[in-house]
Amino acid sequence: MSHQQDSVRPSGSATALSEAYDTALLDLDGVVYAGGEAIAHAVDSLAAARAGGMHLAYVTNNALRTPDAVAEHLTELGVPAEPSDVITSAQAVARLVADQLPPGARVLAIGGEGLRVALRERGLEPVESADDDPAAVVQGYGGPDMTWGRFAEASYAIRRGLPWFASNTDLTIPSARGIAPGNGAAVEVVRIATGAEPQVAGKPLPPMHRETVLRTGAKRPIVVGDRLDTDIEGAFNGGVDSLLVLTGVTDAAQLLAAPPEHRPTYVDRDLRGLLTGQPEVTSDGDAYRCGGWTAAVRGDALALDGEGDAIDGLRALCAAAWAFAGAGVCELEAGKAIAGLQL
Ligand SMILES: [Mg+2]
Repeated sequence: MSHQQDSVRPSGSATALSEAYDTALLDLDGVVYAGGEAIAHAVDSLAAARAGGMHLAYVTNNALRTPDAVAEHLTELGVPAEPSDVITSAQAVARLVADQLPPGARVLAIGGEGLRVALRERGLEPVESADDDPAAVVQGYGGPDMTWGRFAEASYAIRRGLPWFASNTDLTIPSARGIAPGNGAAVEVVRIATGAEPQVAGKPLPPMHRETVLRTGAKRPIVVGDRLDTDIEGAFNGGVDSLLVLTGVTDAAQLLAAPPEHRPTYVDRDLRGLLTGQPEVTSDGDAYRCGGWTAAVRGDALALDGEGDAIDGLRALCAAAWAFAGAGVCELEAGKAIAGLQL
């Protein structure tokens, strides 16, 4: 059963998460790999989860690459995957478009190969120009070679009144050299030029979760991600449990300040968390205990006492912060408590 709708603290699990859930819906960047390299413990942990019978699926907002290319990359890294194990926001937006247009409709494709392949898979015909008689415009991440003229093409078509779709609206995308503008930034360019609003498919929105469940057939999935506003909020919107790993963009301070829709069911350091149970956080009055740690609110700050595994201390702090914040955002000073953890 889903824990997250009624929980204000990280949940416990007596059994390994890989046994408690049938399918892991894994984000890629910051979870499985970073800058093209596998993240520590990812390869071994995923192999063990799979050997134990868990189905692994990879769910990415990046619309640039095809599922074939993503599966090949994963397999090279030592994470064997089939194209059918990969779900992209290009596939989700293609279904969204196909649901609203007649079969065989022409669609102005502003993006990369992943978008074109996904549109063809749904029986739509990608075209390159606003003058090719398209019935809609769809925009996905085009990579560093996307030219300014493509945004102009989208703008011409949208200003003629065509419906506009976007694969996702992540403002940034991590690269080996730093943070680069993502599809959300490209969507903003077109939005400013047209004043129009796109229909969006990617995480955290329902079309992406629906696509994932349709393609995996998951009965009891757990979303595994590193971003609160895409992975974890997507799980919340889909009504399924989630595991936040700290190998990507989210740090302890952001987690403690998370509003309800950004609070994961479980938190762990990395993908080894799939292979273990999760400890309960217990409360005693205003004190929250996990492992050897006790967290509480003192004045306008979160306080943490104890010793042991630092991740248990973070779990205790989450419980104290989220209980204090209720349906809001915890604004207590947390820096000192977090520094004491040496996460
Ligand atoms: Mg990520």
